[in-house]
Amino acid sequence: TQTLHIIGGGLAGSEAAWQAAQRGVKVVLHEMRPTRPTEAHHTDTLAELVCSNSLRSDDAQYNAVGLMHEEMRRCGSLIMKCADENAVPAGGALAVDREGFALAVQSALEAHENVEIVREEITTLPSEDWEHVIIATGPLTSEPLAQSIRELSGEESLHFFDAIAPIIDKDSIDFSKAWFQSRYDKGDGSDYINLGLTRAQYDQFIDDLIAGEKMEFKEWEKNTPYFEACLPIEVMAERGRETLAFGPMKPVGLQNPNEPDARYAAVVQLRQDNKLGTLYNMVGFQTKLKHGEQVRIFKTLPGLENATFARLGGIHRNTFINSPRLLDGTLKLKARDNIRFAGQVTGCEGYVESTAVGLMAGRFVAAEIMGQDIVPPPDVTALGGILNHITGGADAMTFQPMNITFGLLPPMDVRNERGKRVKGKEKKAAVSARALKALDEWLDKTDRV
Ligand code: FAD
Repeated sequence: TQTLHIIGGGLAGSEAAWQAAQRGVKVVLHEMRPTRPTEAHHTDTLAELVCSNSLRSDDAQYNAVGLMHEEMRRCGSLIMKCADENAVPAGGALAVDREGFALAVQSALEAHENVEIVREEITTLPSEDWEHVIIATGPLTSEPLAQSIRELSGEESLHFFDAIAPIIDKDSIDFSKAWFQSRYDKGDGSDYINLGLTRAQYDQFIDDLIAGEKMEFKEWEKNTPYFEACLPIEVMAERGRETLAFGPMKPVGLQNPNEPDARYAAVVQLRQDNKLGTLYNMVGFQTKLKHGEQVRIFKTLPGLENATFARLGGIHRNTFINSPRLLDGTLKLKARDNIRFAGQVTGCEGYVESTAVGLMAGRFVAAEIMGQDIVPPPDVTALGGILNHITGGADAMTFQPMNITFGLLPPMDVRNERGKRVKGKEKKAAVSARALKALDEWLDKTDRV
């Protein structure tokens, strides 16, 4: 019989092990704790939540992460079952007793007849002797293994830090102020969305950036240098008031057709972030500003007054690979037929998303071992949305970790009884209903447990 080796017993590895074992696959789960600790984990338990005890919104109708919860419940997720059983009151969020939760996950895997747990660090990429491998070693993948992955992937395809610029839902941008244009009309001439700032607006913006409240780097994060090329914008602003105007906010080669006489002191450029064309990132705007501050300050930019943010910026210690470049649509390393990746190391972001990618990886390997076709979840589901994004929907050139958001799902034209297009909650509810219906059909087709 063929064995699945999973490296890393965090959220993704535990879920992948469960999904595969439930389908009759023999699983060996290799977890390095307690032999080797990480900077963020405090216990020896599998599926430890390293920070917050919240799995975020549990609203499956109006919230994309809540929708992902519900999809995973329907897929028989171990993480979701243990989270539900260890839930603590948290309003609309799903928060858990972290110790009870992690112990429940660990006990279920220990008790499973198809699962063996080995406490050891894996220090190199496994050879072909291991026919099926899932690497789920997370944001703090141990150094020797990370180096070994880097040798295969190339230096530019494995990162030790993320540098995330905020991402905006395109349909929330005010195009009476913003305009499409490439600098000097290069490319097809309209690749970027531009926001022009007058001198007074630019000066105010610089003041806001410098005064805005920032997040601190954790002590251990400071050991990993971050590169000059991805300095936080507020640090650039502190270095000199005109630094941004000569850097990422250069106004040259751009003219707003709505205001042909305007002379801008600076221009913010937004670049398409996904193939669907629903999301745009703020070019060069990686930041350590607190999330609330980002919303407050970026909404003062002309055209973003009513913007909704699909994700906010950040910079953290985070090991992740360039999945759009390295993985196929079933999470398999293109360069090695026996290895898949799952969890945060694939460039998804968050407990729930990491678990979701683990869930899919476990199912894909199980199908492969059972000689079945691998059928990924439909595009319109939250599972399909994150999978498509990390394995090809995102631009490989600028790939950065991503949370699930409705912007990752194909657009939907939702109309009310009078044929008028609806937005907001009504639209979200329709997108969620579409997802759950498609998920159920997919489960009917693929679930042969
Ligand atoms: P992990 O849960 O980290 O699991 C990886 C496992 O692999 C670990 O158990 C590790 O010990 C093991 N491992 C590593 N290398 C090896 C090796 N070579 N051999 C064997 N085992 C190995 N997300 C949120 O949604 N909310 C938060 O509040 C949050 N806070 C975070 C705080 C910090 C400090 C960090 C670093 C991340 C945070 N995240 C948070 C992001 C992310 O969702 C979590 O890190 C999540 O645990 C990722 O799941 P995972 O399974 O991919 O990785």
